[in-house]
Amino acid sequence: MADTPEEPLLLTPGPITTSRATKERMLHDWGSRDRDFIALTRHVQGRLLHLARGEENHVCVPIQGSGTFGLEAMLGTLVPQKDKVLILVNGAYGARIAEIAKRMNRNHHVISLAETCPLDPVILDEALAVDPTITHVAAVHCETGSGLLNPIDKVAAVTAKHGRRLLLDVISTFGALPLDVASLPCDAVTISANKCLEGVPGITFAIVREESLAASQGNATSLSLDLFEQWRMFEETGQWRFTPPTQVLAALAHALEEHDIEGGIKGRGERYRNNCQILIKGMQELGFQTFLPFKFQAPIIVAFHSPSDPNFTFPAFYDFLRDKGYAIYPGKVTTADTFRIGCIGKAYEKDILGVLAAVRDAMKKFGFTPG
Ligand SMILES: *Cc1c(COP(=O)(O)O)cnc(C)c1O
Repeated sequence: MADTPEEPLLLTPGPITTSRATKERMLHDWGSRDRDFIALTRHVQGRLLHLARGEENHVCVPIQGSGTFGLEAMLGTLVPQKDKVLILVNGAYGARIAEIAKRMNRNHHVISLAETCPLDPVILDEALAVDPTITHVAAVHCETGSGLLNPIDKVAAVTAKHGRRLLLDVISTFGALPLDVASLPCDAVTISANKCLEGVPGITFAIVREESLAASQGNATSLSLDLFEQWRMFEETGQWRFTPPTQVLAALAHALEEHDIEGGIKGRGERYRNNCQILIKGMQELGFQTFLPFKFQAPIIVAFHSPSDPNFTFPAFYDFLRDKGYAIYPGKVTTADTFRIGCIGKAYEKDILGVLAAVRDAMKKFGFTPG
């Protein structure tokens, strides 16, 4: 629930609505080299490592910035110039990883599937069998552009079978869907504060197998996005290399407490799944169609086909819902005209019922029918 009527509830892929208590943790200044902040950083690193079940062999390295900064740091540090990464793409975020690899001049090969098609372990198996020069595989857990959930366990099993290393973007699922970096197995994942962890934006993390990170010195061609150097500084001093987002980290520490109180990954995942089911059922009853079949849908964000009725325009629909207190999101798939409604953030059943009522009012006001 948004705190004030002027502040809409953010039903988006992030940043999402956070609790008042999380925002209030930012009313404090921290010295970046002060022992309290060093302890806070350590605490958050430990909590995230625990959530990813990475305590055994992985380490957690924070990076300033949004999730994309973390992806760039992960790719740039863990894939040396001489190696080659296979990037599995079935949406905008997989395409972003390919763009990063291209910009950073890393050898890469892209396998593209339709945006309605989950990643296919058989295709991956064949690709790895024919190209022994591929050292890494990169993929996205939930394609937030469409809302599709990829079968990362199967992708991980095939990658491991061929002895290659897996790099995952779990930015839009971490904290709501289970992840076990050890048993997947997986070399590194990138996560971000402002999605299912319900923190504020400005900080991202890589959870990396320590052995791989230790062998990555000198790979990064970026100074600030060098995971190895960032990690070494934390190991040696507990401190950040460059100015940390102190308030953002403090807010995340509190958001993680709320996550724990809600029942951790299980509790949060259940609330989002419930939001998602009520949303889809309600929208279908109003006549809207989802972009994906339900079996491929992640409980994170739902893409709906935009009505083809000329009385519907997205900007007017958006403004109407915005005035009723709900901020939704434009579509991002390339093959259909869609809009998206998020299930994540501090949103509860009554909020989803509220947005459904507002959509019903919009249909009356503008006189469009979905379909
Ligand atoms: C949000 C998101 C990102 C990161 O996007 P930013 O705009 O950099 O925060 C990356 N991958 C996925 C799947 C996402 O949902």
